[in-house]
Amino acid sequence: MTATSSTPCPICGQQDQVIKVSEFKASLADPDSTVNTLLAGKTPEERAAITRRLAAPAKPLPLLPEKPSSGYILTLLFLVALNWGFGVQVIRGEAILLVQVLLLLCMATLLVVAVLFVYKYSMYRKELIVANQPDPEWQRGRDRWKRQYYCLRDDNLFEVNQ
Ligand SMILES: [Zn+2]
Repeated sequence: MTATSSTPCPICGQQDQVIKVSEFKASLADPDSTVNTLLAGKTPEERAAITRRLAAPAKPLPLLPEKPSSGYILTLLFLVALNWGFGVQVIRGEAILLVQVLLLLCMATLLVVAVLFVYKYSMYRKELIVANQPDPEWQRGRDRWKRQYYCLRDDNLFEVNQ
């Protein structure tokens, strides 16, 4: 497995110690790789510093929107139960005027809460899609990282535009 690239370093003009940054981690895991041969002369601190420097840019955690409160569901269930209670009395013809008025109020409230809940939930779904889209700044950083090479001789990180 060869990890050195055919890209010459702009400082020393040689390519024998140039590695592709995005392949560094995989080469490190292979004990027979050129990267490990090249790193053999380095101290553990130097190795750690190089590993940190060549690591892929960390993907930022998405800022997730807040889910609509479960209070909506509880309120809806409560209103359905109330409607049921008043409705049964009205259907049986046992309801006094107050109960009939309460039923109407209860049905109207149920409708309002249901519409509000559907609206909040659809907004939440939309925000969730936006939040899960990859961060453009991170994507640019990652694209740059993929174009980078590193020369161990001069500790030189450089970019190649193909
Ligand atoms: Zn060099």
